Amino acid sequence: MTKLTGIAASNGVAIAKAYTLEAPDLSFETIKVDDVDSEVQRLQDALDTSKKELEKIKENARQTLGDEHAEIFSAHLLVLSDPEMITPMTDKIKNESVNAEAALDQVANMFIDMFKGMDNEYMRERAADIQDVTKRVMAHLLKVSFPDPALIDEEVVIIAEDLTPSDTAQLNKQFVKGFTTNIGGRTSHSAIMARSLEIPAVVGTKSVTAEISDGDLVVVDGIDGEVIVNPNEDLLAQYKEKQADFAKQKEIWAQLKDEPTVSKDGSHVELVANIGTPDDVIGVLNNGGEGVGLYRTEFLYMGNSDFPTEDQQFEAYKSVLEQMGDKPVVVRTLDIGGDKELSYLDLPKEMNPFLGFRAVRLCLERDDIFRTQLRALLRASTYGNLKIMFPMIATLNEFRQAKALLLEEKENLKAEGIDVSDDIEIGIMVEIPSTAVIARQFAKEVDFFSIGTNDLIQYTMAADRMNERVSYLYQPYHPAILNLVNNVIEAAHAEGKWAGMCGEMAGDSIAIPILLGLGLDEFSMSATSILPARTQIKGLSKEEMASYKDQLLSMSTADEVEAFIREKTNQ
Ligand code: PEP
Ligand code: MG
Repeated sequence: MTKLTGIAASNGVAIAKAYTLEAPDLSFETIKVDDVDSEVQRLQDALDTSKKELEKIKENARQTLGDEHAEIFSAHLLVLSDPEMITPMTDKIKNESVNAEAALDQVANMFIDMFKGMDNEYMRERAADIQDVTKRVMAHLLKVSFPDPALIDEEVVIIAEDLTPSDTAQLNKQFVKGFTTNIGGRTSHSAIMARSLEIPAVVGTKSVTAEISDGDLVVVDGIDGEVIVNPNEDLLAQYKEKQADFAKQKEIWAQLKDEPTVSKDGSHVELVANIGTPDDVIGVLNNGGEGVGLYRTEFLYMGNSDFPTEDQQFEAYKSVLEQMGDKPVVVRTLDIGGDKELSYLDLPKEMNPFLGFRAVRLCLERDDIFRTQLRALLRASTYGNLKIMFPMIATLNEFRQAKALLLEEKENLKAEGIDVSDDIEIGIMVEIPSTAVIARQFAKEVDFFSIGTNDLIQYTMAADRMNERVSYLYQPYHPAILNLVNNVIEAAHAEGKWAGMCGEMAGDSIAIPILLGLGLDEFSMSATSILPARTQIKGLSKEEMASYKDQLLSMSTADEVEAFIREKTNQ
């Protein structure tokens, strides 16, 4: 029996025989050819066959994973038809009389090296696309079979060095119970797809391919990030129980997928999700999200080699809004700076970047960047239920300036004859204590608040959220935080506005009863936390929690608060 640890990439427990997805032997010799025309034709045939296969895989991905994931294969198909890639290959065959394998390999490697060398994650991913496609074409040239996970017809867990997007898209959920890889992280393509497919996965184990052979019995524990090879009877029984418990738990959660979130005593709150890209929307819908409470738009900027254009942004916002239908989507304007850097925006180093030139501060000074984003958002507004919020608002004046720019761009668009919705709510994130303290004054002017506790806690406790040594001061249940949160909610309600929370605290099982009692209207969290939170809220009485409010707000320590809630809610 062997136990390996890795990164828990997708929840659940899978137990099945190992199926190693081995990379085919793609070695070849460079040789001179006499008939260059038929060599060019051989390359063309391999490209055509690969294209046909990818079209099929793309369609399969579209049906099982949705349009956004299928788009990866559009990128692959583009590679296969890109004259900038293909012409140098055919030229090489014609001018140097080399075989198609050598031409493919040399040209593809040149592009892969070029993209890999770029200090931009998006471009580095393009290198992975070219690598993936090239292997397929090479396999056809060499007439070796390319691993085809779509042909698996018995229950297995897949063992691989890594899974390419095309491997993952071919996985048939009926037979593939889980997978584990040597490399990858929580945000790698394969991990993201595993979560969309809801297949348990453990990635980054470093050595699964060395430790596991075809036919071994394997447990993939995607809850705790462990892989067990040939477990003994006792351990196997334990994992079967864990698997059954998780399945039962999921069934209970799933019953609430299309239900509103209602407490035991009949109060409704909204459970919505935090997202970073349009691809994340599938997960929101699959997990019963009632909307998007925080769309962190900076990923659009961080995944690019230059500022995304108005059209690029428009497409992303429109895609999220359309996928969400009439459900609310709160988009946060650019929150760059602090721990989030842009390689192409050359900002001077600062002593205290979290207290520095960031988010709305930067946007108000660089209004060229800001206006582009606002225009893209306004143009997208007619495709769904859009709400816009500004991050890191410290003064009313900042809010007024940001709102004025938004309204100015709205008028500009209208003058250009472009349709803009007239029902866009405009709110702010409350993540700076000064704003939480005078929330009353803000509430007269904003349409809503969304409390960003990740930052609100770091600023209130004066504890850098990136610094491990002071992480003990990240105390969401600290009475100071509870008082600020309460102040914001009361201020909103006094003016007939709503208050939400999009920091990690909103999905925390100790904080949820407190926030329910304080009257929070909207809880925004990672998609997979929604159903557990809905289940918890269903069992809580809002009136009971509200009756503890004064007691909680006057407590002295976070520990006291936590112990009190644990006792009252049996946690
Ligand atoms: C927050 O600060 O709580 C928040 C949600 O924003 P971010 O984590 O992106 O700073
Ligand atoms: Mg923040």
